[in-house]
Amino acid sequence: MRFLNATLPDGSRHDIEVEGGRISALLPVSTSAHDGVDLGGMLVLPPLVDGHIHLDKTLLGLPWIPNQSAGNTVSDRIEAERRVRAARTVPEFETGSNLVRQVVASGTLHMRTHVDVDNQLGLRNLHEVLKIREHFRDLVTIEIVAFPQSGILRSPGTAELLDEAIAQGADLVGGLDPVGIDGDLDAHLDAIFAIASRRGVGVDIHLHDGGDAGLTQILEIARRTEATGLQGKVAVSHAFALGSVSTDSVTRAADTLARAGIAIMSHGPGGATIPPLKLLREHGVEVFGGSDNIRDAWSPFGNGDMLERAMLIGYRANFRHDEELALAFDMVTAAAARVLGLSDYGFKVGGPVDFVTVEATTLAEAVATRKRRSLVVKSGRIVAKDGALQTPLPR
Ligand SMILES: [Zn+2]
Repeated sequence: MRFLNATLPDGSRHDIEVEGGRISALLPVSTSAHDGVDLGGMLVLPPLVDGHIHLDKTLLGLPWIPNQSAGNTVSDRIEAERRVRAARTVPEFETGSNLVRQVVASGTLHMRTHVDVDNQLGLRNLHEVLKIREHFRDLVTIEIVAFPQSGILRSPGTAELLDEAIAQGADLVGGLDPVGIDGDLDAHLDAIFAIASRRGVGVDIHLHDGGDAGLTQILEIARRTEATGLQGKVAVSHAFALGSVSTDSVTRAADTLARAGIAIMSHGPGGATIPPLKLLREHGVEVFGGSDNIRDAWSPFGNGDMLERAMLIGYRANFRHDEELALAFDMVTAAAARVLGLSDYGFKVGGPVDFVTVEATTLAEAVATRKRRSLVVKSGRIVAKDGALQTPLPR
């Protein structure tokens, strides 16, 4: 089987030969007639990777629900979400499945989702997302972070629930603003690092706290990461603080983060400071991208399109040159794949027959124009065409 007439990111044109479920060769474009799927010179990209999504929060597919947050703090939004959740009648399996279908149509085949765990919800949302993961297992890989959205100390019993979430199938333990939400850096980090150490899993902490207070927390996360031997398995999501302290401070922090193997996730925030992505990358820190909230009680925006997310990250970071846009693209593909520990990822000879095609001549153009994906191919099968899922697929 062949896919004909592909443009690769280096500008070369090839036919893609497939054998035994793998890409077996990249051949010169055939001049004679050949059976196969004609890609028409479209740019071929590796599958997109969403390093931070919330499948249990989205309201996608429901009638519009206005944002109900009374203020602009994380605590205000936690309260607003409780009200929205109390009123919803459609299970998270349905809305989360709507989101999975939408993101697959835009070329995302791997994701890390955070799932709310607290002493009101218990593990209900985890069970919904585990059902989603099972339902779509042939289409997407879904890594699950057990996320203490209501805090750990503020929501007694949550530490035990996080531990049980790992036992029941979550892959990482999450955290949330140890100082801003729980008011106790050590107690919050004691709880999650104890679970991570005991269960042998990674950590991904939401950290909105800004300025020097936020930086102190990031440095303590780095210290504990090294102390517990979790280098390469810890991420800090948002890390707004890295964008709101002095260049000297963030440069020193970058070296510390690189040594501790801590990755930084940014979604290109609209209302907060963004970490200095290029500086971090230059100092050896893994930076990766994610959607974060999509049409939920936190944000009315988002669509799960990771090319659009790369554009938003680039826009927010004031990227202009092609190599800068290539960094934004890397954040939603290879870098996110490394953070998720995907062992079988990438468009290459010997690799899986997973790819996305888009009308563009370079990666930078793909990010800037973020045109609809002409094809999404998973395991050699066309699963979406021109932004629409193909049937039959999991519902
Ligand atoms: Zn989040």
